[in-house]
Parts: sequence; structure tokens; C-alpha cells
Amino acid sequence: MSPFKLVAAGITDVGRVRDGNEDGFLDEARRLNLVAVADGMGGHRGGEVASATALGALRQAMASGEPLRDAIEGANDAVLEKSGSDHQLQGMGTTLTAGTLGTDGSMLIGHVGDSRAYLLRDGELSQITNDHSLVEEMVRTGELTPEQAESHPQRSIITRALGIDPAVEVDVYPVDLRPGDRILLCSDGLTTMVRPGEIEEILDDEPDAERAAQRLVDAANAAGGEDNITAVVVEVIEVDEGDEDNPTGSFAAAPVAGEVMEDDETEDDPAGTAPRRQRKRRGWGRRIARTLLWVLPVLVVLALAFGAVGWYARRTYFVGVDNNHVTIFKGRPGGVLGWDPTVDRRTAIETSQLSENELDDVKAKKTFSSRGGADGYVRRLRTAIDQRTPPTTVPTPPESTVPPITAAPAAVRT
Ligand code: MG
Repeated sequence: MSPFKLVAAGITDVGRVRDGNEDGFLDEARRLNLVAVADGMGGHRGGEVASATALGALRQAMASGEPLRDAIEGANDAVLEKSGSDHQLQGMGTTLTAGTLGTDGSMLIGHVGDSRAYLLRDGELSQITNDHSLVEEMVRTGELTPEQAESHPQRSIITRALGIDPAVEVDVYPVDLRPGDRILLCSDGLTTMVRPGEIEEILDDEPDAERAAQRLVDAANAAGGEDNITAVVVEVIEVDEGDEDNPTGSFAAAPVAGEVMEDDETEDDPAGTAPRRQRKRRGWGRRIARTLLWVLPVLVVLALAFGAVGWYARRTYFVGVDNNHVTIFKGRPGGVLGWDPTVDRRTAIETSQLSENELDDVKAKKTFSSRGGADGYVRRLRTAIDQRTPPTTVPTPPESTVPPITAAPAAVRT
């Protein structure tokens, strides 16, 4: 039993030049651990029929337990059969790049054509598949450099496709998986428009698979969107022990044959609602954990930045006016990013005691790098005021109108 399961999100887009979308993708990650991308070609509706036919046949064959290579060969037969049955569809073909889990915990990528599979591991992108295209073969034989191939006018000519020949050669690449790996399946509408470096950046940067797929499609459109664009982002998730008996955990354990499509759902419901909900919750737990992993460092950085701003904002003093009194404030005049100054000490000096110049100075909120500096300034103000005004004398009480207490007669008692 495979220790992994796949979670996928795919997007296909017509691009900015083509009238129709001949790409297609399959997301059967939940039910069959199966994902695929197909890029069809052919006149009339040929292209989209070819890709849809291949994906449908692949799904059916995998659901009935066929090995990946056989299933892709079966998809080739299905496309050939369909094009033979309708002369308007003659000559149609399609690429097919499919990923599924092997029972040993590895991933198998089956591949025909020039759609691609990539692996993102530890932030690094590597291409799993080799294109079956004219320019790729010329690169292999040394006739073109990879850079020349990127912009070659014939880069869309493919040398292998489904629906052309009854004997199709399918490449199968096994990929050892680790939890956290991401697999990208995509059509050439992405890879001819967006360089691997940018694909890597987006895949590594965007934690949400669906948003990552959307950003890849957006990047291809921003670069011109000359072809249909399809991106399927697949996440490799470790299966909890409790999920091991989950019948949808691996395609090998999926129900057999033609009844799968309908029967699977009805079979799932009575027996499977509770475990399914549990799985979903665990999925959310992981999602939250992953989000926290990403959010926590951001919060720490923000807190540090906030603290630094606070330290900067609060380390100075200034002398201003509060309630008509000269007052020492802690902080910067006007505050900094929400750090408002606070009253540190309101002095006894009233603004009416200040000269015009002194008042202007105080209203201009003179700042000091320490409390001592502010105190010194207040002391100088006090001295200046004292020098201007005559020393205040303690007022002598007016003469008392109360008659002095006279001594009581010494000898009253007798
Ligand atoms: Mg294409």
C-alpha cells in the first residue's frame, strides 16, 4: 500500500490567440490517484475530441486496474478508433502525460508527446519527461542548443502522439516521492511561454495548489498566451495510518471494471461518510499547519519590525505645550506609525510666562535624544523666566482683624 496520496488542482485556458481550447486535463487524484494532461491537434473539432477521448479512455482503463502503460496504449486505440469512425476527425491526435501512484509509493509518469511533467522538490524544479518533438531530438543529437530550441519556429512539431499509429511507444518514468513534493503536468502552451526559472518560482512561492496553477496560466497569458495553456499542480501527501484501509487511497484498490463510475459513489456513501469527513478534517489540519508554517515567520518579522519602529518612535523626547503648560513628551512629535507621544512630565511653567521667542521654540516642539536633554532645556527656560521677573515674595498676610487673644486672667478659680 502506497504511503502517499495525491491532491491536485488543474486549470486549462484557451490563451490569448486561439479560438478554441484543444487541451484537456484529468483530475482523478482523490478517487484514483490519477492526473493527466492532453494537448490535442487536428482540424475541425479534432483536437479537442482527441484529447477528451484519450483522457476518458485513460480514466476508464485505470479505474479497471490496468497498468499505466497499457492504459495509455488503450487511449491510443480509442483515439484511432474515433478518428476512423468520422472522416471529419481523420488525422486527429493528442499528447498525453499522466501521473499515478505505484503500489510501492513511487509515482509513475506515462508520457507521449510534448506536454511535460516536472518535479518540484526543496524549491528546485526538474523536468521528468523528455519531449517527443523535432527540436528536442535536434537538441539530443547536438544540432540545436536548448536555447535555440526554445525559440525555434518548428518547436511545436511533435514526433510522437496518440491517434497516429496503432503501435505507440510510451515512455514511463518512475519517480521516488517524498512528502512535500509537487508534480506539475502541463501543456506546451505553458512551457513555450514561461521559462523553467519562472515556473519554479511560482510553484515554490504559492502554497495553494489551485492558485499556483492559476498563476502559471496567468504568466503564460502575460507572455502572450499563443497556445492553449494547461497546468495541473499535484501535491504528494503522506497518508495517515488510519487512512491505510481507505478504498480510494490507491488506484490498485479501486473497485473493478465498468461499474466503477456509478457504483463507486453509491458504495461510498452508506459505509464511507464518516471516514471521508475525518479525512477532510485531517486535510484541513495539514492545510492549517502548512499555512502556519508560512504565516508564523511573517508574524515574527512583522513583530520585530513593529518593535523596531516603536523603539525608534519612543526613544526621543520633545518639549511642547499641554494644557497651557510647558510639557516634556516621550516620543516623536506627531507620532510614528501608530506610536503616539505620551506626556512624560508637565512642568509648572505656564505658556504666558514665556517670551515670544521661547513660545515659538516650544510650539516648534524641540526634540532631544534623552530625557536629560529635555530637562536641561526646561531648566534654562525656568532660569530665563526667573531673570525677567522680580523674585516672587511671599505675600505678607494682611493685618489681622481678629483681636489678639488676651491672656486669660491667671486667677479665676478660687
Ligand atoms: Mg499546445
